[in-house]
Formats: sequence, structure tokens, C-alpha cells
Amino acid sequence: MIGRFAPSPSGRMHLGNLFSALLAWLSVRSQHGEMILRIEDLDPDRCRREYAETLKEDLLWLGLDWDREQLPQSRRTAAYEEVFEALRAKELVYPCYCTRAELHAASAPHASDGQVIYAGTCRHLTDAQKQEKTKAPAWRLAVPDREISFRDGLQGLYTENLLADCGDFIVRRADGVYAYQLAVVTDDADGAVTQVVRGMDLLSSTPRQLYLYELMGKPAPEFYHVPLLVASDGRRLSKREKDLDMGALRKTHTPEALVGYLACLAGLLEKPEAVSAKELAQSFDWNKVRHDPVVVSMDN
Ligand code: GLU
Repeated sequence: MIGRFAPSPSGRMHLGNLFSALLAWLSVRSQHGEMILRIEDLDPDRCRREYAETLKEDLLWLGLDWDREQLPQSRRTAAYEEVFEALRAKELVYPCYCTRAELHAASAPHASDGQVIYAGTCRHLTDAQKQEKTKAPAWRLAVPDREISFRDGLQGLYTENLLADCGDFIVRRADGVYAYQLAVVTDDADGAVTQVVRGMDLLSSTPRQLYLYELMGKPAPEFYHVPLLVASDGRRLSKREKDLDMGALRKTHTPEALVGYLACLAGLLEKPEAVSAKELAQSFDWNKVRHDPVVVSMDN
């Protein structure tokens, strides 16, 4: 059994990141599996090297260790290119010249998570039409009109029709940066990851990723999408809540106090008593973990 941490170094980790990381670690350690760390620094505009260093230090402070580190995504372009070229050779991807304004036109259909469903505008451009274009294209994967289902370890059965619910999605941006969907599948497949534990916000990405596994002929891991942490008004906690980032939390908590607090939020402890991650791993059970959004009172 192989699990992973896949944090993005776009800022200091906050309570929500820690919550997912703790559950991923507990799941692996309780099954005596192997833990991989992968820095997801795909987006050069948002990620910084110093955040990656701090992030590792923060995980270790909390008692969450790993057995090996994969190359950071910024150094894996050749691997993504190979996957992309294989898709291109099979004519499964096509160039898309749509502008932001065209994509976000008022008439564009939207998925339940607010994302625009791509209407397929550039799917059938002729070679002559492509040659007239002057801008560099993004590349989209043409998706099938069929349902993709999987059973999430926490959320149960989840189904999406890729064409109707998502549309053809970007696998390479116009600036040449590979998209998260392609990178994450390539990395998890190359790392032989068998279990992915991450936030609920990525549940709806999973059918796209499963389709990529299928096209690549690789086995897909099992998935556990853990609840998001929300404020009492239902708003998702984010990196903006400075008092809930690791910089602030490390000043007000010991590692054991923070692990105990997170474990209590997850449903693993009745009260937020101090406990080490190692001790918790001994009695970890996915059946105890909550499925619904977890309300965090801001004065904790
Ligand atoms: N890098 C993503 C994040 O920090 C997680 C991606 C994943 O777990 O698949 O939100």
C-alpha cells in the first residue's frame, strides 16, 4: 500500500491542509504502507521554493513523516510531455484557441462547482482554420459521452458524465505548463500510488483522472475525499485565515495538541486531547472519520 502527500507550495499550510495530511498519514501508517511526499509546484506563478522547505518542516514538526520523496512537479516536465505526446499520437487531444472571455461568456454552461463546461468549440476545427490562428493554443482532451463511476472510501459512489458534466478539459496550458489533472495522474501512476487521500474539493476531478488512467493503461488508486473545514457561516477556510496557518498554529499549540484537535475534528477523538500522530495510528479506522463538512470555531 502506497499513499502520498501532495502539497502545493503556494503559501504556508493551513488547518485544512493539515487535516488532509494527517488522515493520509494515519491511513498509510495504520496499514504499514509507504508514504511518498511530492511537492506540487506545477504553477510557476503561484509556487515558491521557500514554501516547499517550510512545508516539509511543518509536516515533520507535526510528526508526519514520509519514506521517499518524488521529484517536484517543476522537474517532471519530460514525464508529462511523454504522456501528452502519446495522447496526441492517438488524436485524443486537440488545440483550443478560445480566449478567457469566450470561455466565460454569460451563455456558457456551468457545472455544479461553478466551473465552465467546455462546449467543444475547437474540437472540430479544420487544419485550415487552425492555421489562421495566431495565438498559442491550450490543449484539451476530448472526453467521451459516458458515465465514469467510482466508489470513494468516504463519500460512496460518485458518477459523472465527462462530456455533459465537465466537457473536454485542458491537459496543457497555452504557456506550455501541464495541467494539474495530467500531472497528478502521471505522478501517482509513476509512484505506484495505491491510495489517494485529499480534500473534497477534488472529488469532482476524480472522474477526469480516472479517464486519464484508463487512456494510459495504468491501474487507478483508491480514493478517500475528506471533508472540507468550514467557518460557522459555511465558508471554506482558506489560506487567508492567517490565525489558522502553521505559522500561527505553531505558536499556540504543541504538535500533540494540534494533532489531538485535528483528530477531534475528524471524529477520531471525542475530546481534543493531546496525542501524538504515532499513537493515533494504532487505533485509526476510516469508519470513524466524518464525511460532512467540519465546522471550525474560529476561537480555537
Ligand atoms: N496539490 C493539491 C493541493 O495542495 C492536491 C492534489 C491532490 O491531492 O491530488 O490541493
